[in-house]
Amino acid sequence: MRRFTGNIRFRNALFLLFLFAASAVSAKGIEVNRVDPPYWWTGMKNHHLQLMVHGNRISETSPVVNYPGIKLESVVHVQSPNYLFLNLMIETGAKPGTITIDFLKGKKTVVSLLYELKQREASLGSHKGFDASDVVYLLMPDRFANGDTTNDDMPGMLEQADRSNPNGRHGGDIKGIEDHLDYLMNLGATAVWINPLLENNQPAYSYHGYAMTDFYKVDPRFGTNNDYKNLISRAHQKGLKVIQDMVFNHCGTNYFWKDDLPTNDWYNQWPEFTRSNYRGGVVTDPHASISDYKKMVGGWFDTSMADLNQDNELVANYLIQNSIWWIESTGLDGIRQDTYPYPYKDFMAKWMLRVLEEYPGFNVVGEAWLSYPVSVAYWMENDRNFDGYHSHLTNVFDFPLMYAISKAFNEQEGWSTGTAELYEIISQDFVYSHPENLVLFADNHDGDRFYSKIGEDIRKFKLAMAFLMTTRGIPQIYYGTEILMTGLEHNGHGDIRKDFPGGWPGDAHNAFTPEGRTKAQNEAFNYLKSLMSWRKNKDVIHTGKLKHYIPQDGVYVYFRYNYNESVMVLLNNTNEAKTVDGKRFKESLSGYTQGRSVMDNTTVENLSSITVPAKSPMIIELEK
Ligand code: CA
Repeated sequence: MRRFTGNIRFRNALFLLFLFAASAVSAKGIEVNRVDPPYWWTGMKNHHLQLMVHGNRISETSPVVNYPGIKLESVVHVQSPNYLFLNLMIETGAKPGTITIDFLKGKKTVVSLLYELKQREASLGSHKGFDASDVVYLLMPDRFANGDTTNDDMPGMLEQADRSNPNGRHGGDIKGIEDHLDYLMNLGATAVWINPLLENNQPAYSYHGYAMTDFYKVDPRFGTNNDYKNLISRAHQKGLKVIQDMVFNHCGTNYFWKDDLPTNDWYNQWPEFTRSNYRGGVVTDPHASISDYKKMVGGWFDTSMADLNQDNELVANYLIQNSIWWIESTGLDGIRQDTYPYPYKDFMAKWMLRVLEEYPGFNVVGEAWLSYPVSVAYWMENDRNFDGYHSHLTNVFDFPLMYAISKAFNEQEGWSTGTAELYEIISQDFVYSHPENLVLFADNHDGDRFYSKIGEDIRKFKLAMAFLMTTRGIPQIYYGTEILMTGLEHNGHGDIRKDFPGGWPGDAHNAFTPEGRTKAQNEAFNYLKSLMSWRKNKDVIHTGKLKHYIPQDGVYVYFRYNYNESVMVLLNNTNEAKTVDGKRFKESLSGYTQGRSVMDNTTVENLSSITVPAKSPMIIELEK
């Protein structure tokens, strides 16, 4: 009898060779070489588990499970003879332990699989999610810090490190993130969103992580699954949440199943390579053509990214269980889900329900990269979609506001320009069920760096950051924005994803330290740090109401307030100092006699006449 343990640590070709020598002539060559998920737990709210068992001719066998509290409910055969899908029921009260699954041919066991059912780890059980009290720091692991140069090149990986290639792998890793958790804390971040860490064994452009070749394995050039788990645990000890980047729309073309798909419809297939039209709005467009829709959701994202068909129940289960496996095995706090409108939306809703069923306080932020609030709002759970669709999605990125922020501070103030860009977008919040659950950003890994967008003008930087940290929603900072990193997308993605200076041994400057930053970098860093530190304990910013006034004379004024306190924000977007007459804001200022300017800690004695310096923000905590 041959045994196989599904534990990921034992996926080693030599080891498998040893394990799977055939035991009978008729069964020669039948083997198990992979099972997903690699292990599971007892005591989950959902009692179903579907195992994908992969191995040469495994479908010729009949699996048998003999373990108290575990029932093999059904076995699914598919087109490929090398897969079996096992539907298990884990009954309440089933004990953790190792299940033996025997694969029989006739009455003879050909191969056995040892499958581990773990005890859920209570210490990982908070899964508290994120909200508007958080500031999220987004980083790209290959480009943030190289904490372990020994993993830069790893055997078996198709792409090796080449720091001179802007589109190559640069060697950043989990250790590099772990080494700089204190930096993130010092800046005032409360959550970190890490671009995908899972294996991308593709020959080129593998550094960005979006062409995953194993949904169950951290890329060895970043570290191990255990390193990732430890990183999350270290982050939690410091009070930092971790948000995992996931992709359900596609996988890398080098996924292990590439030459042996379980079913013919595992991927969305086309007679010839067909790209998505990337026009996310098609999914909600009442006038859309069927062909446009099919191309949108069924077209491939890239030649290296195969489009998964989540309409296939087996694909759907595979993805759903995968996300739960990561939450349960690492204790992560949230998920950022890539390309949200691209997979089939009914599947996405089903997935969200499963996640929230298992982890009620959990958050997922969807990347619905759309230009208009009404399009984005469709994807945030609400009960007023025109077609009755319920996404169950808790959070979405505020792309419309990102576009507005990118324009506002470059423009002259006018009826619809300058801060009116911000005002107009915010005024459309009625379309969102929960505007406070929008994730706000000035830049991310897919677009021009913010400092480049604003012509490298630090005054505009401060205006934008003050806005980002005080308006409604959950702010997100892109790594390096705090030290004024520059880059334009049309120069290639490498330009907007440069290495963080000081993250590599021998770097000329270490911008993780004040000494290694230029004067301007320190000015930006310290400004953002003060803002974020102040924001961290300001309930009124996290949960308070927002009232804004039509921008006038180049100044946009709004208030964040609750029963106990009020914060007044003034954004002067002109090149001259402006004195604002408090009478206009009487309904918001009533009861307050003076204020404290947060960023310079000075007293504002006269609220009826407030002078805001040129091209500057002013944040005032009102006092009675
Ligand atoms: Ca490394």
